[in-house]
Amino acid sequence: MSWEDNVRKVVPYVPGEQPTNKNIIKLNTNECPYPPAPKVRELINDMKYEDFRLYPDPEAKSLVNVLSGYYGVPSDQVFVGVGSDDVISMAFLTLFNSDKPILFPDITYSFYDVWADLYRIPYKQIPVDDEFKIHKEDYYGENGGIIFPNPNAPTGVLEDLDFVEDIIKHNQDVVVIVDEAYIDFGGKSALPLIDKYDNVLVVQTFSKSRAMAGMRIGYAFGSKKLIKYLQDAKFSFNSYTMNRPSLALGTAAVEDDKYFKDTCGKIIATRERVKKELTELGFEFPDSKSNFIFAKHKEKSGQEIFDALKSNNIFVRHWNSPRIAEYLRISIGTDAEMDAMLEFLRGYLK
Ligand SMILES: *Cc1c(COP(=O)(O)O)cnc(C)c1O
Repeated sequence: MSWEDNVRKVVPYVPGEQPTNKNIIKLNTNECPYPPAPKVRELINDMKYEDFRLYPDPEAKSLVNVLSGYYGVPSDQVFVGVGSDDVISMAFLTLFNSDKPILFPDITYSFYDVWADLYRIPYKQIPVDDEFKIHKEDYYGENGGIIFPNPNAPTGVLEDLDFVEDIIKHNQDVVVIVDEAYIDFGGKSALPLIDKYDNVLVVQTFSKSRAMAGMRIGYAFGSKKLIKYLQDAKFSFNSYTMNRPSLALGTAAVEDDKYFKDTCGKIIATRERVKKELTELGFEFPDSKSNFIFAKHKEKSGQEIFDALKSNNIFVRHWNSPRIAEYLRISIGTDAEMDAMLEFLRGYLK
């Protein structure tokens, strides 16, 4: 007998690389290439450092209220956390407490199986088809809960609201989580469905469209009952999840709506242009409604292109996993960053 027999052993999630070298083009973790809203910078200068000796508001009211106002959802139907990873992790722990397997796609956010393993939740990964499409009928059987991103990651494939609602309709006796990390880049949010179904959790984040990955802010909407269960678990886990700067600066970011919409618009315009250029270079990809493109080249292997880009200080994401080893996930950067990448590829693929 050893103490190690009592250890909860897990194989951790591997996040995208955060290189310390500043002289790189970083297209590997879907961050926003533009800075946070100007209002955020103004507030940084006004923040009182003496206040850091005090605990933050455990209920995160300033942030909850601004999200409540912006999205038109009562504040007792809003949950916030340290990035949507924290929100989803808490949701797994609280809402997927079942002996039946939870369901999610085989090609999807690779944190889901890690949380399921961590919390000992049985799960079944359902293959997407060869076009990376989810088939809603695959989710009609008995299960312990469902989670999928819309648009899906790392494919970028968006489903419409009818599709999302159909899955919810067929799963009224379990919780359905819609992970909308990329919804601001051209999709329709499932948020209105929380009024119709009390078993739905819609999760979003400040990390991609609001340019604040470094502040770690995520949030979710659901029925009053469902959010209360999440709050009870959160307060049993860690009362002070959100720190003072995140609460203050997150609130400022939501208040600057014009900047937010302009930024999303710029990223969408760059994405559409890069789609055309990648096609001309011999890449194929499912149509993306996110801030990345999941592309494979008709001739050159994914690993080769990944290595070539990296040795030229252009970082993209590549997984050596079945079905997707030939693909690269390329985040949408500024126009100048994308031009530099395309210029390199033009020479490299010639
Ligand atoms: C980026 C991402 C998240 C997590 O983002 P946070 O930075 O933790 O808010 C969650 N789900 C998907 C699908 C993502 O791509």
